[in-house]
This record gives sequence, structure tokens and C-alpha cells, in this order.
Amino acid sequence: MANTLQLTEQLIARQSVSPADGGCQALMIDRLTAAGFSVETLRFGVVDNFWAKRGSGGPVFCFAGHTDVVPSGPLDEWRTDPFEPVIKDGLLYGRGAADMKSGLAAMVTASEEFVGQYPKHKGTLAFLITSDEEGPSVDGTRRVVEVLRERREHIDWCLVGEPSSEATLGDTIKIGRRGSLSGRLTVHGIQGHIAYPQSADNPVHALAPALAELAARTWDHGNEHFQPTTFQVSNISAGTGAPNVIPGELRARFNLRFCTEQTVDGLKLVVEEILHRHRVKYTLDWFVSGLPFLTVPGALSRAAARAVQEQLHIHPKLTTGGGTSDGRFIAPMGAQVIELGVINETIHKVNECVRVSDIDRLHSLYRRTLELLLAQ
Ligand SMILES: [Zn+2]
Repeated sequence: MANTLQLTEQLIARQSVSPADGGCQALMIDRLTAAGFSVETLRFGVVDNFWAKRGSGGPVFCFAGHTDVVPSGPLDEWRTDPFEPVIKDGLLYGRGAADMKSGLAAMVTASEEFVGQYPKHKGTLAFLITSDEEGPSVDGTRRVVEVLRERREHIDWCLVGEPSSEATLGDTIKIGRRGSLSGRLTVHGIQGHIAYPQSADNPVHALAPALAELAARTWDHGNEHFQPTTFQVSNISAGTGAPNVIPGELRARFNLRFCTEQTVDGLKLVVEEILHRHRVKYTLDWFVSGLPFLTVPGALSRAAARAVQEQLHIHPKLTTGGGTSDGRFIAPMGAQVIELGVINETIHKVNECVRVSDIDRLHSLYRRTLELLLAQ
């Protein structure tokens, strides 16, 4: 069945810039209902989510993903309309082609075929789909997981269809993610005339040595599964615009991507100690957007890796690199969580695209993974 491509095109044509869903979920729900799933829609605020199940009891295998996409960016840099699927030279173009409407389509068609062949499959096959992954990620997967936890619903295996592949389909399976800790820093000084520094206090000069130390610091060496922790400044601003005024305040934002060698409290202590030691006068607000998680190689990653080896004849590497995903909300339920999807080279860029041939191959990988885990 070559309908994974067709479903991907239909999803791209349903414009769904986060947190809008644009009717993508209705399309998926129709297909899953016809395949015997019972579907529950869960709308929180402006965010559409759904939870669908077929079968009963354990083990519970769940496909997870998002229907929302990031904005198109400058339209004049797109060679085609971002919300009109266009195939050219073996590539399907459109916003969400890789992140992650091809993944969603592959989950649906893989499940349709799997339940057609194994109507009495083991355990439960489930879907957890949100339209708030690219946005604040508050009323999406996070809230659905809260609902499931209150009901004591359990997920054993979760496959997130995010674009995990780097150079060729299936070369990379994500088995965890680093944590993400952000800081919003304000350094307080005293504004003054640039010719009279003795009666001012320059916050740029106060922060500079502390920032140099933070930027140069080796936080840890990572471990078997994780890259070392990194610190990056994302924004910094000070100054009135006038060339003869010492600024009274500096504002900066920074982010730490951290591995399982660190804790949030430990990182906060180190940053604050460095600021204190350099006598920086500051206020600092912290925001944790995800704790690191790791799925130790187990039944799920073995099944997915075997599917890749059998069908694509390559050995996927199991990694924890890259940004965060909604897997961070599902892993604390005690689920094994992996991410396996198409090549991520063009995601969030203009002219986002996916290889047409990879779309059907991804559906075969998902289908084989289901067979290895849930076939009777
Ligand atoms: Zn995504």
C-alpha cells in the first residue's frame, strides 16, 4: 500500500502552525476509528490532543507525536507554497514534511496494516497525539500524561516519530535526551557618564569575567550514553544606544543542556557561586524545560533496531543527542521511550522536505516493530 505518501500530503495541506491542529487530528482519528481504535479527544485551552487505543491489557505500545508545525518563515525563500505538498526530484516539500507529518502518516498506515493482519494482537496499541509540541508544550503531552497517570493508565513502550535520522533513514535511534535548564539573568549596575566611571557601575564589566568562566567551564565529561553538559548564551543586551553612557543594567539569557551526571540544583549552585565570586549584583530566574531521560537498551530499542537492520541493512546507532522532545514527559511514566523517524536535516528550515522513498520505508519499519512486539 502506497498510501503513506498520500496521507502525508493530506496532512501537509492542513495548515497547522502551533498550536493550531488544522484538522490533522480529525483525519488521523477517522482512519484509526475505522481500524478499530477507540479515540478520546482531550482539548486543553487552545490545544487539541487525542488518546487512542485498540486491544486490551498489557503490554501497551504507544505511538507519540505532534500535528503542529513551526511557522513557515520568509515565504519568498520557499521555492513552493509551504502548505501545498509538492514532489520534485524525489523529495516531498512542505512545512511538516519531516517534522513530523510523514512520521504521523507512517504510524497510521503501519497500524492499519498491522491490525488488519493481526486483529487479535497482544496487549494494546495506542496513540498519544498533540498539537502543542513546537509551542509552550504545556497543554499538550504533559497534560495528557497527567490525565493518564490519574487513571493509572500505563505505557510500556513508546515510539516517538520525531525525525531522528541524520544522513540516511534509520541510521540513528534516540534512546534519551539531555535535560534543558534556562536562566534569565539581570545584572544591576549604576548608569553614568562614560567619562566618569568612578561614579557609575558598569554591569557589562561586572559580568564579563564571570561569563568567561561559565563559557569556558568543563561541566563534566558526559558518560556512556550522554554527551558532556554544555552552556550557551542565547541573548545578551545592555546600553542605551548612546555612545557616552555607561549602562545601568544588563540582561542575558542562557541555557544548559545537561546529562545524567548533573542535577538541576547542582547546576544552579555552580552558576550562582561563579556569579557571587565575581561580585556580580544580579537577579536570576530559572526555568527547567526538561530533565534528562534515558531508556536503557531494552525490548523496544531492540525491536526497532532489528527492524532497521532487516529492512534497511544498516546498524542504527543509539544516541541521546539533539534537542528535547515530548518523550521527556512520557519517560517518567516508567515507559521505555525511543525516537525513530526520517532525516532531520531540513526541519524548521525553509524548503523543509523528506525523501519520498523514505516515507514508505518508515511505515515498513514501524509495521515490523509492531510485529516484533505485539504480533500474536
Ligand atoms: Zn517535531
